[in-house]
Amino acid sequence: SSFAHFGFDEQLMHQIRKSEYTQPTPIQCQGVPVALSGRDMIGIAKTGSGKTAAFIWPMLIHIMDQKELEPGDGPIAVIVCPTRELCQQIHSECKRFGKAYNLRSVAVYGGGSMWEQAKALQEGAEIVVCTPGRLIDHVKKKATNLQRVTYLVFDEADRMFDMGFALLFSATFRKKIEKLARDILIDPIRVVQ
Ligand code: AMP
Repeated sequence: SSFAHFGFDEQLMHQIRKSEYTQPTPIQCQGVPVALSGRDMIGIAKTGSGKTAAFIWPMLIHIMDQKELEPGDGPIAVIVCPTRELCQQIHSECKRFGKAYNLRSVAVYGGGSMWEQAKALQEGAEIVVCTPGRLIDHVKKKATNLQRVTYLVFDEADRMFDMGFALLFSATFRKKIEKLARDILIDPIRVVQ
């Protein structure tokens, strides 16, 4: 497959070419059209598969559509992940590709400066990449609100629940995550690589 199948505009293609990606990876070929369609998705792919870009590219297009419909403050897209390192990594990809449309991303994680994060949130970043606890802290302090969020990603969801809920350590752990996903998502499409 090739990038032409996605129908991305010249601005986004320019950033992709600058990254020297010559063709989409398998998870991108399968996942991007699903995410672009607006359907909920469960993606199962390893680190190194290109999964991050697979949810970032459709996210950028969604944000551009949504910005006109819903002017206001607060992020339009939220990416929740389990660790600070992952948060920083995803944030840097959001910045790189977000340049296509001058979209702003903020990384919000435990251990980083509350004040600096709050400032970036208040300046109106459209994208928030966060660890769960720190995002909740900012919402409680009213540094941001989630009223405009219409694109939500849980990256490495299995690891996140692994760390957070010791109660779920059991033989039925996988089943419980699947059930949780089924409760939250509406008629999701599974994409497995
Ligand atoms: P990820 O699985 O999202 O952690 O991505 C692993 C690495 O693959 C990252 O360094 C990306 O920059 C890179 N990458 C993502 N998509 C592509 C692509 N289509 N072609 C080549 N490299 C890619």
